[in-house]
Amino acid sequence: MATHSLLLLPGDGIGVETIAEVERLIVFFNARGSGDTFVIDRDVVGGAAYDAHGVAITDAAMAKAQQADAVMFGAVGGPKWDKVAYEHRPEAGLLRLRKDLDLFANLRPAICYPALADASSLKRELVEGLDIMIVRELTGGVYFGEPKEIVTLENGERRAVDTQIYTSREIERIAKVAFDLARKRGNKVHSAEKRNVMKTGVLWNQVVSEVHKSYAPDVVLEHILADNCAMQLIRNPKQFDVIVTDNLFGDVLSDEAAMMTGSLGMLPSASLGAPNAKTGKRKTLYEPVHGSAPDIAGKGLANPIATIASFAMALRYSCDMLAEADLVDTAIARVLDKGLRTGDIMQPGMRQVGTTEMGQAIETELRALMA
Ligand code: NAD
Repeated sequence: MATHSLLLLPGDGIGVETIAEVERLIVFFNARGSGDTFVIDRDVVGGAAYDAHGVAITDAAMAKAQQADAVMFGAVGGPKWDKVAYEHRPEAGLLRLRKDLDLFANLRPAICYPALADASSLKRELVEGLDIMIVRELTGGVYFGEPKEIVTLENGERRAVDTQIYTSREIERIAKVAFDLARKRGNKVHSAEKRNVMKTGVLWNQVVSEVHKSYAPDVVLEHILADNCAMQLIRNPKQFDVIVTDNLFGDVLSDEAAMMTGSLGMLPSASLGAPNAKTGKRKTLYEPVHGSAPDIAGKGLANPIATIASFAMALRYSCDMLAEADLVDTAIARVLDKGLRTGDIMQPGMRQVGTTEMGQAIETELRALMA
């Protein structure tokens, strides 16, 4: 029996409400009397940290994040902090976490719960049972490459430059994450790039092939052009298992895949750092894809499923609690099957509930599954 340390950073707006529902499940796991347990620590981030300390995250909170087995992050931001100096804006807290923990791999599952298949913009038969994992490189590529500027030319025209840069080391480590994940799932990786028009695409293709040969010959690898990948996701999404791609294409493809499965309130994510050389443990952060939703914050209306499903990812990837992770996912599916819906996923004939009732229902299902 192991004890896992979790740092809870609820942040702002509905982050506070949805992380409370994760705490409910942590309390449940700790009280069950067998199996792994959790010790939790809490701190503030985003606007809440700015109000308390004048910065988006303190050094003390960062030190806790460095020590924790996993960070559970809610959401940050809101109109209250719109005029805060750029370096202290709420998002700076999340960016510092990503940078200092070197979270280079962003995992975005696109799962279609059968009960929500009719809410997808695609036909039920295309999306029912869909389970794709998009692995996006998060710390390199065109969002960070230098030069990055807008300059005025001698003739008065303005010219903007963004620079797409990747090293073989950056590609190698993200490819390994994708192959490792595929082994625990459908054993297939699609690597998406634009080798036909971009040098970084050529290198990406080469390095992924090399890693495949030396590290994961047992996994099926297919290379796909990123634009074709976007088309295939709409045409026949179930052909995919794991898709690994760079920061820019990953940004677009993960949003595309996510929207096949319904609401923002349903979408979890994980960000992983490099394994520690001695312990093999990775730094990790788990968060819903959605933001702080100021329009519904404090009203008990937020869908907690994205945050609870992010917790299930933490159980799977940081705590090695695979059975428990599956049970949390099953509990979510059962609650949806029974017709409970928060406002964002409400459908005719279903019963609308708030954040707390949805969290309680998931806990009740979990309790029944583990009895
Ligand atoms: P948002 O994701 O907060 O909300 C978009 C819409 O989706 C809103 O109508 C909201 O009510 C709804 N929604 C989102 N999550 C929901 C949930 N769990 N249940 C029910 N409905 C939900 O995006 P936004 O409105 O563009 O941004 C609001 C604030 O959040 C901004 O300050 C933005 O900078 C910040 N933000 C933070 C993160 C983050 O912390 N990772 C991500 C995105 C946006």
